[in-house]
Formats: sequence, structure tokens, C-alpha cells
Amino acid sequence: MSIEFQNLPRGLRACLCALSVALAFAIADPAKMQAQGQSQANDLRATLNQPVEPFHIIGNIYYIGASDIASYLIVTPEGDILLDGGFVETAPMIEANIQKLGFKLGDVKYILSSHEHLDHAGGISELRRITGARFVALEQEAPGLMEGKSFPAAKPDQLIHDGDTVRIGTAVMTAHSTPGHTRGCTTWSTTVRDEGREYHVVFIGSASVLPNYKLIDKPGAPATYTGIEQDYEKTFRVLRSLPCDVFLGSHGSFYDLADKRGVMEKKPAQNPFIDPWGYQEYILNAEAVFLKELAAERGPAATAPATPAAK
Ligand SMILES: [Zn+2]
Repeated sequence: MSIEFQNLPRGLRACLCALSVALAFAIADPAKMQAQGQSQANDLRATLNQPVEPFHIIGNIYYIGASDIASYLIVTPEGDILLDGGFVETAPMIEANIQKLGFKLGDVKYILSSHEHLDHAGGISELRRITGARFVALEQEAPGLMEGKSFPAAKPDQLIHDGDTVRIGTAVMTAHSTPGHTRGCTTWSTTVRDEGREYHVVFIGSASVLPNYKLIDKPGAPATYTGIEQDYEKTFRVLRSLPCDVFLGSHGSFYDLADKRGVMEKKPAQNPFIDPWGYQEYILNAEAVFLKELAAERGPAATAPATPAAK
């Protein structure tokens, strides 16, 4: 089995965190697959984490991440907000990208996180050290962020809850609890002004079901965590309820970053990141993957049609 990330359907390309893929291989056949799984995870990690040029997305939002591992800078005269720190190896790319755009590392006042996987939180410790920024995260993410096993521990300076906001100058980032992918997976939203118009922006945390996840508790095969199925259902409800004009997320593949930045370079009349339909499509695709996985775990007995009544 090989992982060709670019060849995967869009819905399945969502958030293939390298560590989780490696774990899935290891669990499938530990003796035989671990080395192969690790090497493929390393390949995937390298593919997702190529250095790319930073660029202006819309309003006061800039892309400062890697080829797929996303990171954003929200800029105000009073200071800046940085969302997501990538892998450990992404942090120097993010630092360089901030400076390439002409912004100062010392102006970053807050660091926010989408979720506590190593491809988004791995670089936070270093970015916090170099900027002196305050790291803010949802309370449910704190244990994973502070574990320090698969990436340097990142202790939040401030714990927040569903619906809380982080404000600096005119920028207001609102945290929405969208659990399932992790217990405290966070979707952030804000509004921006661009060329005289106001836009709702959504940064999706992730709604992906990873290959090693279990959604239902079974004897000998416990769920990834208790309540994960209901958490995913909540997440799809929350995502549907958010107004979204500009669709962004923790992985570029969620919103076709590479294609859209290509369009951007041609200076089109309409900013390609304004994509409310793409946002709805992401939700539908991610929910379809979730429902398929749920049906597979329930098995044919649970999904077979009821026996017709005897005549
Ligand atoms: Zn993840």
C-alpha cells in the first residue's frame, strides 16, 4: 500500500496527520509494517511540509505556512495573531515567512491552535519562544499540547472555552469547539474588510476521521475516546451553522490552497479564497467519510433493511 497524497480524492486528502498514518500501519501489522509505515509517514510529512512563499490572502490575513501544513498571520497596527505552528520543522519556515512579508516576529502577540496534532502544534513551543507571544488554546486541548511525546510540549498561557474570543486592535478571533478529530479541535472564525466589503472567514480545525480511529465502542475494540461519534455529529452541526465567505483550514488540501494561490497570481477580478460553496462541499465530503466509517464499524447487520412483515 502506498500513500500518494495528491492522488487521493479531495474528501480523503483531509488531514492525514503523519503520526496517525504511521500508527495505523503499526496497528495493522506491527512486525511487518512498522518500518514501512514509518518511512511512508516520513515521505508524507516531507510532501506536506515543503517551504513555500508567503502571500496575502484577504483583508488583514496572510498565509505563512508550508505547502499543505497551514499557518496564518492576522495583522493589526496593535499587534498580530498567529494561527498554528506546523511541525517542528515548519517553525523556521513560518518565522522566515513572517519576515519576508515585512512583519516583525516581536509583533506577534497571540498564538492560537487548531488542534494538538504534531503537524499543527509541533512548532508552537519554538514560535512562542521566539515571538514572546501568549499561547491561547481550548481547555480540552491542553493535555495533548503539554504531553511532549510526539512534539515539544507547548503549555498554553491561557485556556479558553467554546465561543470565547481573542481580540487585538480591530481583529476578533472566535473559538468554536468542533471536537471529534481531537477532543478540543478548534475552528476559528473572524471577519475581515477587503475592498470596501466585509467577509466572514472560517478556519476549519479538522473534521477528518483518521485511519486508526474507532468511532464505536466494541468489546476488545474501544472507541478512540468515549463520545467521539456524538462529537463528530456536533462538529458537522456547528460547521453548517457558521456563516462563511472565505474558506480556510489547518491543511491547504481542505480548501485547494495550491490551485487558489495559482489563480491569485493571475490577479483575477474575484478573490478565489471567497468560496462559500467550497466550504459547504468540504462539510458534505467530510460528513460522508464519517458516515461511511460509522456504517462500516456497525457492520452489515446494523444497516440491513428490516425484514418485511409476513403476509
Ligand atoms: Zn489532525
